Amino acid sequence: MTQAASRPDGWMDAHWMPFTGNREFKANPRLLTGAAGAYYRTDDGRQIFDGLSGLWCTGLGHGRPEIVDALSRQARELDYSPAFQFGHPLSFELANRIVEKMPAGLNRVFFTGSGSESADTALKMARAYWRAKGQAGKTRLIGRAKGYHGVNFGGISVGGMMGNRKTFGQGVEADHLPHTQPPNGSFFKGMPPQEGPMGAALADELLQLIALHDASNIAAVIVEPFSGSAGVVIPPVGYLQRLREICTAHNILLIFDEVITGFGRTGSWTGAEAFGVTPDILTAAKQITNGVQPLGVVVARQEIHDVFMAQGGPDYMLEFPHGYTYSAHPVACAAGLASLDLLEREHALERVKALAPTFETAVHGLKGVKHVADIRNFGLAAGITVAPLPGEPAKRPFDIAMAMYRKGFYVRYGGDTIQLAPPFISTEAQIDTLVSALGDCFNATA
Ligand code: PMP
Repeated sequence: MTQAASRPDGWMDAHWMPFTGNREFKANPRLLTGAAGAYYRTDDGRQIFDGLSGLWCTGLGHGRPEIVDALSRQARELDYSPAFQFGHPLSFELANRIVEKMPAGLNRVFFTGSGSESADTALKMARAYWRAKGQAGKTRLIGRAKGYHGVNFGGISVGGMMGNRKTFGQGVEADHLPHTQPPNGSFFKGMPPQEGPMGAALADELLQLIALHDASNIAAVIVEPFSGSAGVVIPPVGYLQRLREICTAHNILLIFDEVITGFGRTGSWTGAEAFGVTPDILTAAKQITNGVQPLGVVVARQEIHDVFMAQGGPDYMLEFPHGYTYSAHPVACAAGLASLDLLEREHALERVKALAPTFETAVHGLKGVKHVADIRNFGLAAGITVAPLPGEPAKRPFDIAMAMYRKGFYVRYGGDTIQLAPPFISTEAQIDTLVSALGDCFNATA
């Protein structure tokens, strides 16, 4: 008998769970009660390999004493500090440390509590920036089909995950670029993507939106360097470069949502660095604290920040009337500083780069396995498209993810894909075991 089954009737009723089929879960609860290193422990005592690093956020592994000690020390010293009109030293220290990891020029850090808050903050910042510059007409926002920028209203407006949008009616004015596809069609293998003319041509779709709306009405374009939640879709060579050129030429801000790609998953500090393209605003969250505390950031070019500071008015005036109760929470900042220390000390980026070829070979070894329709990877992230069951595209991916859990592996399914993002601390053997179990689960699925 599992622990879950021994609890009193109705004990699960009150919690309405996020992004979860609540009815299914409550019939088949999957309870994690502990974690250490690359493994979770379930309430019935099983070890589960963490094949998605939590939700792409615990690359350093679980239960790191350095992080736990830092945040408990901080909680004893200053457990909360008002986020507005008062500061605490750790947020300034963390902001400086984050700037060191950013591409040159991105050097002003606004703290939030999550990836969704960072996306909405970045979009509001873009609109407010143009307004402060006397171009208040620049309000339209452009995202990308299948883009994911969290779940707040700005994020779902520019986001292109259909289920996350249509359930909630209208968002803010936004348009979408077509989704980019790997240049060589299915089973693209290679890091970074091979040469192909497709990238620039796809980015040129932005010119059509500019012709339609006029750049004088467009505030920003937001994209993930590679789409994570859509199933690790890597942009073709030249795509991000061309977006950058077009945005610069038409005075449109380019925002990179690096909530997944930031802080190590690509083998670089940012996707911007990995792809060699610098946005005007960059958002990140998740891995900054190794998932141990909620924390997000929006990092802006100094000129953007300076436009706000130069608005005039009394010096107590709010230059950007925006922020959250938990912006730069002291305990989250302590966790962030400790995580950055560990990422540096353990050479996590080098580790990701060194593991990436093993990971790539393993995941592309799934080519030809039953129901595998496509495979993509970058750094320590991979998306495997599952051939859909007619009318039920998510059924097989769900079944595969659950079969993996029964076998002792946690992976995520999203839409028609299985997503993998093993911890940076994984061994080559753990990666091979994870992917080979996945192959077995594909084969065993109806
Ligand atoms: N942007 C991207 C690219 C993400 O992948 C996510 C989360 N997966 C978010 C934003 C939202 O982050 P959060 O869940 O912390 O709000």
